[in-house]
Amino acid sequence: MSFAHLYVHVPFCTRRCSYCDFSIAVRKQIPADDFVASIRTELQQVGPLESLETVYFGGGTPSLLPADAIATLLQHVFHNTSPPYAVEVTLEANPENVTPTAARAWRSAGITRVSLGAQSFDDRVLEWMHRTHDAAQIGRAVALLRAAGIDNISLDLIFALPESLRRDWDRDLDLAIGLAPSHVSLYGLTVEPRTPLDRWISRGAVQAPSDDRYADEYLRAHQRLGASGYEFYEVSNAATRGRRSRHNSAYWSGRPYLGVGPAAHSFDGRARRWNHSAWEAYRSSIAAGESPVDSREALSDEQRELEGIYLGLRTAAGVALSAFHRPPPPFTALVENGWLVADGLSLRCTPTGWLRLDSLVSALTGNLTIS
Ligand code: SF4
Repeated sequence: MSFAHLYVHVPFCTRRCSYCDFSIAVRKQIPADDFVASIRTELQQVGPLESLETVYFGGGTPSLLPADAIATLLQHVFHNTSPPYAVEVTLEANPENVTPTAARAWRSAGITRVSLGAQSFDDRVLEWMHRTHDAAQIGRAVALLRAAGIDNISLDLIFALPESLRRDWDRDLDLAIGLAPSHVSLYGLTVEPRTPLDRWISRGAVQAPSDDRYADEYLRAHQRLGASGYEFYEVSNAATRGRRSRHNSAYWSGRPYLGVGPAAHSFDGRARRWNHSAWEAYRSSIAAGESPVDSREALSDEQRELEGIYLGLRTAAGVALSAFHRPPPPFTALVENGWLVADGLSLRCTPTGWLRLDSLVSALTGNLTIS
């Protein structure tokens, strides 16, 4: 089938962040040639891609790939030409990887949008997170990207950090807004098993972040970003006018997408499949001429309904009442509590509703369960 949205997973990082449980490969030297060859082979297995609207290099740390490797992959995807101007091509980047040369090379390769892993503007906090950049590098990266012609810039920020860090969330929001990015993505810190953070908490060195702090900082970000011209178009994502992520919006509207690279997921509208998550397992299966797909799952009608409701409620547009195959249980109380807005045709979450999204979906879907 033809896909309009392509995700390329670049699994390499130079160090693991203290909270991260992603499938990554920690490397001092990035095996760029091997990576490019593997992705090209996987793309050949899938067949030609026509009419792509978005390409997204996610990770891991895609900005660790040499710019010529990114250019080679884009040339391959777009049949030996650069991506057409209308295609949104996003690169996730760490601030320390943004140099004048890299930024110019990314732009000429066809990158139109950069998502910067800023996380915080407090050096103490960045060090605690095991991030590989300092606060000053964030502003420098934004300036270099703009100078290279990339002005569609998103900043990632993490909130709800442990109290003991005394992180000043308002200051971080001020500094982020001061850089005037076109987009901001928020990530609430979660404690994942077997991460350094999990171990620190288990031995009592750090206290787990509280739910109250999570809610306060989330709502504060809504208020501050909203007052500065950003619209939350999804539970965790805010953008200035015309700068929503088209790639991620495709996921939330249930459109098919193709994912290549280790751990990448694909969805054809009815079924999902995902690749081997470890880089070595992925690379060896490709080298052996085999498919890198690890597993597949066909969605039942009930799962598709549930997923449609969940994804719809993540967005500011909400979910159409027609998406419910059976009338939802009465939801007047959820509206009266200020969690949902109902206009007769659709339901959408308020910011306080987004804080309890999973329970709202369960309440609205009765006996359906979230898989
Ligand atoms: S840079 Fe991202 S993917 Fe890499 S370790 Fe940190 S959080 Fe995980």
